[in-house]
Amino acid sequence: MQPSTPMMAQYHQIKKSVPGAILFFRLGDFYEMFFDDAVVAARELEITLTSRNKEKGTPVPMCGVPYHSADAYVSKLIRKGYRVAVCDQVENPKTARKLVKREVTRVVTPGTLSDGNLLEPRENNFLSAVFSDNSGLGLASVDVSTGDFRITEFRDGDRESLLQTELERLAPKELIWCSRLSDRNPAWSRGLSALKTVVEEWIFASDFAQRLLVDHFKVASLDGFGCQGRDLAVAAAGGALHYLQETQRGELLHLDSLHYYELDQSMLLDQSTVKNLELLESLHDGSRNGTLLQCLDETATGMGGRLLKSWMLRPEIDLKEIESRQEAVAELTENLVLREELREQLKQVYDLERLASKVALASANARDLIALRQSLEQVPGLKQRLKPLAPARLRSLEQDSDPLADVAAQIGEALNDDPPVVLTEGRLIRTGFNAELDGLRKDSSSGKQTIAELEAGERARTGIPNLKVKFNRVFGYYLEVSKSNLGLVPPDYERKQTLVGAERFTTPRLKEYERRVLGAEERLVELEYELFCQLRAAVGRQCRRIRNTARALAQLDCLVTLAGAAHQFGYVRPRLHSGEELAVKGGRHPVIERLGEQLPTGRFIPNDLYLNQGADQVLLITGPNMGGKSTYLRQAALFSVMAQMGSFVPAQEAKLPVVDRIFTRIGASDNLARGRSTFMVEMTETAVILNSATSRSLVILDEVGRGTATFDGLSIAWSVVEHLHSRNQSKTLFATHYHELTELAQLLPGVKNYQVTVKESGNEIVFLRRVEPGSADKSYGIEVARLAGLPRPVIQRAREILRGHEQGEHEISNHLTRNYQRRKNNSGKQLNLFVVTEHEALEQLRRMEPDRMTPLQALQAIHRLKESLSSDQ
Ligand code: ADP
Repeated sequence: MQPSTPMMAQYHQIKKSVPGAILFFRLGDFYEMFFDDAVVAARELEITLTSRNKEKGTPVPMCGVPYHSADAYVSKLIRKGYRVAVCDQVENPKTARKLVKREVTRVVTPGTLSDGNLLEPRENNFLSAVFSDNSGLGLASVDVSTGDFRITEFRDGDRESLLQTELERLAPKELIWCSRLSDRNPAWSRGLSALKTVVEEWIFASDFAQRLLVDHFKVASLDGFGCQGRDLAVAAAGGALHYLQETQRGELLHLDSLHYYELDQSMLLDQSTVKNLELLESLHDGSRNGTLLQCLDETATGMGGRLLKSWMLRPEIDLKEIESRQEAVAELTENLVLREELREQLKQVYDLERLASKVALASANARDLIALRQSLEQVPGLKQRLKPLAPARLRSLEQDSDPLADVAAQIGEALNDDPPVVLTEGRLIRTGFNAELDGLRKDSSSGKQTIAELEAGERARTGIPNLKVKFNRVFGYYLEVSKSNLGLVPPDYERKQTLVGAERFTTPRLKEYERRVLGAEERLVELEYELFCQLRAAVGRQCRRIRNTARALAQLDCLVTLAGAAHQFGYVRPRLHSGEELAVKGGRHPVIERLGEQLPTGRFIPNDLYLNQGADQVLLITGPNMGGKSTYLRQAALFSVMAQMGSFVPAQEAKLPVVDRIFTRIGASDNLARGRSTFMVEMTETAVILNSATSRSLVILDEVGRGTATFDGLSIAWSVVEHLHSRNQSKTLFATHYHELTELAQLLPGVKNYQVTVKESGNEIVFLRRVEPGSADKSYGIEVARLAGLPRPVIQRAREILRGHEQGEHEISNHLTRNYQRRKNNSGKQLNLFVVTEHEALEQLRRMEPDRMTPLQALQAIHRLKESLSSDQ
């Protein structure tokens, strides 16, 4: 299409430079959108679609938003998953001789947001980039709003599923990967709600990435960041940085380091475990209510909130680190007054990480700098409080907290205490800070004074009592005379404008004053803006120091928070060790215990837990529905999560081994209620556990096998327990309805039976919520039904059916038991539980009825027999 005007030509050229983004094109006081952008924006923003150029026969759809409220519209589009490019006038329209020069000043995308107003304070906002080649996958994640830049790579094991686990944990808002990955919707990216973009391959090319990063960080090599030999991670980092440079256009000073990490440097929690344990979201309604995070998170700052969440999703496995946190928590737990003082002071600290980023990106306004100053002013007080404390962690945090007195003073000297949000209206800079500014202010105010005098003088001279000197942006200063007094206007008044009830005039003197006042004011505003930008740039150069302090204060915030919870809810310091034993006395579920009196028992009933790698490796827990099994299982996992975060735990006493990974599988029925699970999902998750759990893992299984027919389910549950017991050798808690499984305790040396206890009292069944050794009586389901008032014949019939089933189930478990014993006898030394033995084949043969078979069926049966024999070898 032929652009109709030079401006539209300019528009098209700029539009081409930002493919895939809606272009906000600055025209006077509006940002306008044209063509398809206008159609989309009008629909999404619910604003009116008009058109331009109609008279020439080629109407161009357009819509616009006022420049001062553009941010709200931009954020609305971002939240709906669009990218927006903001194109501004980069020269003063008044001085421009021809077409005003325009440039894209920023591209806003969901993963590159930095404006705190558009972000969740306690959430990171990651952009993730994935690079892939034959040797593996590289992942880089950047949060522009905090300066967090971390990378990792996956070369071994099931790379794709590890990548997926990590992405689910990071929950990026935007995901980019290179076009080389031919799959447009790779498995690891499914289920993520991120905006996904495929970008060109060359930006991930390793020499390009290396050079880009080395230049950006101004280092000779990336080895200092632990990137040696991490080509995949580095390529991903290069891709991410390039994308940011393209979109942000500002300097990314605050991205001042790269952090290389590996997944096994912390406890690995996959997405379903995070869900099942309700760490971040409740299973019930997806909200924060009733989650471990909500239960613990009393952090005073946004950065503290983000760090606490990160501690929870990546519990430590390094004993030293855990103990150093614990030591600090212990000190702060005991010292109530100090803790409260620290908390109060931390509450005065704004989100330093995000402020530092805004400063570095030159998007901070004067109020942000004031907030920065006020936050920094808290640091000396915090340091003073920390100084006398003994724990090494608190001492090092004290040292790392830099009050940046120079920066605070610089801001204090330059800026007014209560500056406006807008940077182009003046009133930013203190009097006395800059001589030229002070001079201009004097001119401007004396000019105003003169104008007031002029008004009085003109009234006297003309005898017009209501003559007024007024000002507006279009006409400048003028004298306004109402219609009734027009006869009194002297001849030297020049007419400017006629209104319905009045006329507006000017005089040579007024013009002269106007020039002085307006000139001074314009220069004043300009100079203030200039001085502000200088200040912001100077502060931006101290970004690294600000971020270091932010990190120290975020940690302090977390430790104070954990200490607060420990004190308030009576948690104890767990003894963590590198051995095998897990022993908890009087353990509670941190979230459910808060329900207190609302619980049917009136308060939470504490329970013990004991596991080791010997006789107590697998606990089979039976008992009726609502007995407290799930709660007991989850609380066991939460002890490890909390302890390895550095938190104390809800128990009387706890000794815990360092766990490398927690696996959970919660019964199909629970998920079915949410309408998305199938038996297949259940089995897939179980497969992951059996394939990955180690002897240092904790496995929580709640009702595995329920998603299918009883016999199938029982058989699967049985063999899963065998596998976990003998192959994975993981500490396992297995809650089940299959009473038959309890026979495993007699067969396998590491399996113990536990039950949740129930008492029958009169016409009621009382759940005691106590977990004790032994296996539960299984008839409670029908008893509960009876108490609930099901008709007597139905109950009787149910009992009959149950008896039938029990027999059937008994046959199965007898069979499984016999089978197990036989294999044990046969194999002599090493017991191998998972091969189909000859006896199995013989048994099959025995069950065959040749008389009832067609020749084809017989042939197939022989085939199956042979197959089962050969799979034995
Ligand atoms: P199950 O898994 O056996 O069906 P749950 O663990 O879901 O049982 O527990 C049912 C309800 O019992 C929970 O919602 C909780 O309110 C309560 N409960 C569980 N354990 C305890 C306990 N130890 N003390 C008090 N109440 C408990």
